[in-house]
Amino acid sequence: MSIQKTLIEQKNKAIKDIEDLKEATKPVKPDVSLGRLTRMDVIAQKSMNEESLRAAEMRLKKIKRAIKALEDEEYGFCLNCEEEISTARLKAIPYATICINCSG
Ligand SMILES: [Zn+2]
Repeated sequence: MSIQKTLIEQKNKAIKDIEDLKEATKPVKPDVSLGRLTRMDVIAQKSMNEESLRAAEMRLKKIKRAIKALEDEEYGFCLNCEEEISTARLKAIPYATICINCSG
């Protein structure tokens, strides 16, 4: 599969994840049928989802940047040091825009 195809698939997945997570992070309704503990669970779950939502939005941003880089034929170069990003790293994270040395 081409990198572009992989990135587009990942982009669509990220968009879908964001939609799902936005749904999951809607304000918790003060439902009287929920026990105290259950409500705490719901709130804990919600904050976890909020974290996932932020991560998914960040991922989408990176994927979009990578797609743009691909179009500009700048794909695979570190945005920080301009060195080539290793193929192993790109295989693991196709939307990586920072090389392994700069990512730490
Ligand atoms: Zn770098």
